[in-house]
Amino acid sequence: MDRREFIGAGAAALAAASMSACGVKGIKGAGAEAKAQLMGGKMKLSFYPYELQLAHTFTVASYSRKTTPGVQVEIEYEGLTGYGEASMPPYLGHTVESVCAFLQKVDLGSFDSPFLLEDIMEYLDGLSDGDSPAKAAIDIALHDLVGKLSGQPLYKLFGYNPAKAGPTTFTIGIDTPEVVREKTLECAGRFKILKVKVGLDSDEQMIRTIRSVTDLPLAVDANQGWKDKHKALDEIFWLKEQGVVLVEQPMAKERLDDTAWITERSPLPIIADEAVQRLRDIPALKGAYSGINIKLMKSSGLLEARKMIAYARAEGMKVMVGCMTETSCACTAAAQLAPAADFCDIDGNLLITNDLFDGMTVVDGNMILPSRAGLGLIKK
Ligand code: MG
Repeated sequence: MDRREFIGAGAAALAAASMSACGVKGIKGAGAEAKAQLMGGKMKLSFYPYELQLAHTFTVASYSRKTTPGVQVEIEYEGLTGYGEASMPPYLGHTVESVCAFLQKVDLGSFDSPFLLEDIMEYLDGLSDGDSPAKAAIDIALHDLVGKLSGQPLYKLFGYNPAKAGPTTFTIGIDTPEVVREKTLECAGRFKILKVKVGLDSDEQMIRTIRSVTDLPLAVDANQGWKDKHKALDEIFWLKEQGVVLVEQPMAKERLDDTAWITERSPLPIIADEAVQRLRDIPALKGAYSGINIKLMKSSGLLEARKMIAYARAEGMKVMVGCMTETSCACTAAAQLAPAADFCDIDGNLLITNDLFDGMTVVDGNMILPSRAGLGLIKK
């Protein structure tokens, strides 16, 4: 029996295996010794920068880019490796240097096991107020280990039904009508809902171009791009007629009163994205938005994301789970939450050409979660 089987084999086998590993003969006191062994392991954190290559230049209301900087994290424990990832789209102000500087400060030596998620995340928050992507990378790797040590996929430990993971949107970036038409044709057969970046003067042209190719439902994301609340509301009514089902971040995140005015009158749910990072941001949004878009790189990982889902539900708010441009590592982590969400926008891994992992897949527009333990990733 190797170390991995040993951990999943229950108390009796666990004790026996421990004795054998330590050369201990006899039964007396073996259970306690085995437990000490199991809890006494050390976690070893390592990380390296990994730049994500985008298949298409990505344009939203405020910028364009062709790559996204990232950092891959691995935590080794008891012969197992937990995978995590930090992705840093430039608009959030994080860099490879800031993520690596944070990770260099992290000392997991005082924690016995990855199961101490609450303690470890509290310790990370004590190191700095920001650095959410770096914290998320550690949180994701720890969750991967927790699942692997338990021998179960994470969604199962969370109590979620993988058959309810449902569809993910696929994002069509702002581009020329020719490219938009081509991209839409490319993905219309593979997805059940598309997401369209709006917030520029070309909005109507974007929507009409997509509508010339497909009748699929659409989500739109203005990325804070609309400046006038009356115009925004008029556009939202028009978008509803065009088969749009939700609107993300219509105006600047600071303009809470104007957003509340829109939400009160909008025929479509208005979802906060840039306006919400972590759990502490949600109370102020109540009444101003219909729901929140939770992303692991903003929330500092899965532990807090699950608290955000619970809080939003208690306030009657809708839950969307999104992602940044990420490999299948962070996207598969986000997808573990899909069964608990109303909408999912987990397509970051589908937008890159140099994925490091096999993980969550999309079949007939629906997300399929790996049934393997932890995140269920296979490193390529
Ligand atoms: Mg968004």
